[in-house]
Amino acid sequence: MPEIDNIAAPERRSDDEPVRYNPAEIEPRWQSRWDADPALYRAEDHAGGKPKFFCVEMLPYPSGALHIGHVRNYTIGDALARFMRMRGFNVLHPMGWDAFGLPAENAALKNGRAPKEWTLSNIAAMKVQMRRIGLSYDWHGTEVASCLPEYYRWNQWFFLRMLEKDLAYRRSSKVNWCNLCATVLANEQVVGGCCWRHEDTPVEQRELEQWFFRITKYADELLDGLDTMPGWPDKVRTMQRNWIGRSYGTEVTFAVADDTALKGTGFSPSVTPPGKEGALAPEGQPSITVFTTRVDTIFGATSIQLAPEHALVKEWAKTDAALAADVDKMVAEQAAAKQTGDFGTIEKHGVSTGKHAINPFTGETLPIWVANYILADYGTGAIMSVPAHDERDYEFATKYGLPIKRVIAPATSGGANDDSGDLALPYIAEDEAVLINSGEWTGEAALEAQEKMGLFAEHKGFGKRTKTFRLKDWGVSRQRYWGTPIPVVYCQNGHEGVPPKGVVPVPDAQLPVLLPDNVAITAENGSPLGRVPEFVNATCPVCGGPARRETDTMDTFVDSSWYFYRYTDAHNNTAPFSSEKANYWFPIDQYIGGVEHAILHLIYSRYWTKVMRDIGLIKNDEPATRLFTQGMVIKDGAKMSKSKGNVVSPDEMIGKFGADATRTYALFAAPPDRDLDWQEDGVAGVSRFLARVYRLTMKYAPVVKAVEHAKGDEIAPSAFAGQTPAGAKLLRTLHQTIAKISEDFSGRWHFNTSIAAVMILVNEIASSEGAMDSGEIAPATIAELFRSLTLLLAPFAPFLTAELWEQMGHTSSINHAAWPVADATLAKDDEIEIPVQVNGKLANVIKVAADADEETIKATALADEKVQQRLADKTIVKTIYVKGKLVNMVVK
Ligand SMILES: [Zn+2]
Ligand SMILES: [Zn+2]
Repeated sequence: MPEIDNIAAPERRSDDEPVRYNPAEIEPRWQSRWDADPALYRAEDHAGGKPKFFCVEMLPYPSGALHIGHVRNYTIGDALARFMRMRGFNVLHPMGWDAFGLPAENAALKNGRAPKEWTLSNIAAMKVQMRRIGLSYDWHGTEVASCLPEYYRWNQWFFLRMLEKDLAYRRSSKVNWCNLCATVLANEQVVGGCCWRHEDTPVEQRELEQWFFRITKYADELLDGLDTMPGWPDKVRTMQRNWIGRSYGTEVTFAVADDTALKGTGFSPSVTPPGKEGALAPEGQPSITVFTTRVDTIFGATSIQLAPEHALVKEWAKTDAALAADVDKMVAEQAAAKQTGDFGTIEKHGVSTGKHAINPFTGETLPIWVANYILADYGTGAIMSVPAHDERDYEFATKYGLPIKRVIAPATSGGANDDSGDLALPYIAEDEAVLINSGEWTGEAALEAQEKMGLFAEHKGFGKRTKTFRLKDWGVSRQRYWGTPIPVVYCQNGHEGVPPKGVVPVPDAQLPVLLPDNVAITAENGSPLGRVPEFVNATCPVCGGPARRETDTMDTFVDSSWYFYRYTDAHNNTAPFSSEKANYWFPIDQYIGGVEHAILHLIYSRYWTKVMRDIGLIKNDEPATRLFTQGMVIKDGAKMSKSKGNVVSPDEMIGKFGADATRTYALFAAPPDRDLDWQEDGVAGVSRFLARVYRLTMKYAPVVKAVEHAKGDEIAPSAFAGQTPAGAKLLRTLHQTIAKISEDFSGRWHFNTSIAAVMILVNEIASSEGAMDSGEIAPATIAELFRSLTLLLAPFAPFLTAELWEQMGHTSSINHAAWPVADATLAKDDEIEIPVQVNGKLANVIKVAADADEETIKATALADEKVQQRLADKTIVKTIYVKGKLVNMVVK
């Protein structure tokens, strides 16, 4: 290592003249400098040669104040964005506002403030907080607020594209209704039978005309895609899989028997009727299509069960008052069970309709029942009941004395027609089970029979193989004011050929359909927009005649389904964004947010991505390559809430300790995926650590400045050659720290241990102050130490490190300074620990030089006192050395 002359060791400052760390002075000063430089965090043009890195934290709802959980989420992303910039990546790190939604209307009800004014002032206040935290967002280039027409016009534009592609449609349906929200909720917004925003308010069912997005068209792709997303947490993928809920099965159509004809012949429905096998219902005769995942058990079906709201039941109830009364009761029970959310525990009961259906496989007639546990909107709302092989059917058949017929036996039975066995019922068949009592299918393996019998039903025309999904189409109509107006009108003249019937889309050229200001927000039902005549009364864009404008607004999850694409081209006013830009930046390299969004936002945004791909806007199939879900911030072991009085305010923390200490603590106190119990003492401790860094670095900044000036800003490669032992030790710790933090950023994200490693390094530097001052440690080594220390802390404590960087004489921003590179040779420990075993049992751990040869290590092991004790009176048969890992002595 070349010596550098003419650099005097710095003078030690006396204790009565301390350099005091004052974040209240440093942080605002740097914040105004950063604010004055709009290009500071701007990503480079996509034509540049750098590799790109797109880092997004989920955007907040502008409630008016950040909570400490936000600070944690954004700080994780910010540390990563800063690290990647220093690693030479072209980083896009944006922020925006999920600005539509109900709280703005509630604020209007409560305080009489207009939702727009309330929202925009909240955004302004939260932006001040975000700047204060030192988050490196490109506000000038990327900021997006979904409540502004420049953004929501593109929601409308996408709606029209979906209308064209039959992905948006309108139908009357039962909807989830929250009385407190006074609006419809998506299935995804019903949690345990209650509103997702009002945990104690049961959701009611109402019949309304609604707009839907056909997300089910992508159900297979949304599900299968999860297998190709290793960068998403398993728990999120599992939640999505369950939510989409694909199951394969068969639909089989049973003709309803003509009971009047049967009655005339005295024919008893419990025996095989004269009907032909596989007969279809005669013209005009009703039929029932059942859905089953186990068509192989169809020979064991002994009844058909319908949902109380099945169309046939409604029909029969018209002429059967007793049935009608029973059915009404069951409908009410189902509604109640849906509200409490525990449908599974509903007390099962049913009533016979007196009608019969013909099993197309056997020709047998089966009684038709109505059962309270069958839902009209699951499958076909009808099932075949196979009590021998299904828990629920068994319970039901036992209760009502319905026949139980075994048709599946364990594979070990060899397919013998043995139903006298002592096998307990119901027998839930394994895949290897075989069919018995099943006509020509007897002896088939159950799994194969499912396939063959489904094909047979298809071939014969009384069935088809199907896939069903738990996922339902996304209901997007909301009867609210503060959202994106749905861009359609209903022309009073009516139009032929404008799909869907009666609906006239607003032409692209007339977008945006502006949300009117000055709308009275009341607690009445129905959209407040319906009470604004200037809005409702529209002109038909096709015929110029009078038309009524749609007054529903879009679910606000529409806004967050594609906002991150807009970041790439936030000011585009001719398209939602440029495809060229989106194709450069997407998919997002790292997406960060709460696991509570695993289903709603993260399924909707995947759907939106696929729609945008299919209309040719983008090329990627999924929005984000990697997803990280951070843990919660809690206080004293409990979730923070106003009612518990344990809410930590970021402003208060920053006021007391500074933004750098607050940020660094948020990353230091727990691994990012775990819950973090916020301790003010801990923030104070981090603040003291930063003060120590400040004092030491300020003291040696002149050394760094002089060394770097002498080298023409080129950093000398460090080496052990010429180092004193003290210098070598510090260099080793430094390079170990660099290696550790670089690795943590690349994968594990254990920032808590990263920061702990920097603390250890700083301790070691502090205890070497004497050696540094006496000249025992070379100025070049001192320079490398402090330069690297400042760079290592930059992602965590941006204000402090910017200040120190400048104090060291640098004129360019630390934001783009190169991240230090760990030298493996320097990072290598000079001593290593080797466990010594005797007959496979640990005797002791010895310390040897890292470059010691095998003979030396074996000799050291043999000489060890504890090993010697184990060897007493025994003979060594052989000694095995596993390089760098282990010595094992085999003795007898
Ligand atoms: Zn609600
Ligand atoms: Zn018209």
